[in-house]
Amino acid sequence: MQYKLLGLLLFLVFGGCQSKPKPKPKPKPVAAVTIPQKPPKVKKKAYPSLDGFTNIQSIDSTIALDIRYATTENFVKAQIYPCPACYLRPEVALALASANAQLRQKGYGIKVFDCYRPRPAQQRLWDKVPNPSYVTPPSKGSMHNRGMAIDLTVFDIKAMRELYMGTSYDFFGMKAHTDYPSLSQKVITHRKILTDAMTKAGFRGIRTEWWHFYYVGPLHPLSSLEWECE
Ligand SMILES: [Zn+2]
Repeated sequence: MQYKLLGLLLFLVFGGCQSKPKPKPKPKPVAAVTIPQKPPKVKKKAYPSLDGFTNIQSIDSTIALDIRYATTENFVKAQIYPCPACYLRPEVALALASANAQLRQKGYGIKVFDCYRPRPAQQRLWDKVPNPSYVTPPSKGSMHNRGMAIDLTVFDIKAMRELYMGTSYDFFGMKAHTDYPSLSQKVITHRKILTDAMTKAGFRGIRTEWWHFYYVGPLHPLSSLEWECE
């Protein structure tokens, strides 16, 4: 009996070791190592600069640009700027951004048609239409040439549509006047939305063009500096 027990013991101690080694488990396919990566940095678009001016899009990229003098879709039917851009004197640009912020709270946004207009561009306009009723003579210069005036309208953000202002931009006629007596209530309301925001931000409008506003502040000199196109 004792031998049997010993045999069993020996079997347990040594016998087990003699069993065939189990085939090595096949290596599991190695899952692709995922190295946690930082989200790619979205490169902030750099807007070109111009000495003494602020590129409006560098401080508020939600302001829409529809610079008509960079196209032929304007009252002189000629391209006056080589490319579209909206530069303004720094405090004017900040004021415009604040008008846009006010409007955005109500679901509206600003769309600009013209901002700073270099004097050589004023000359090109004058060459096309040498009539002081429509174009300020370059020798005199305008608030646009100082980087202190803006031509603009308002659009409905949700509908992505401009508010109807009664006339198109650069329509020269009574209907574009702010005191035109036969404007519809809708047009009066729309123009008031624009005028209220601009007035609160430090601008004044003019009687003959609903789209034109100038900044009330110390005058900057007329400038001939032209922006570069990329
Ligand atoms: Zn203007």
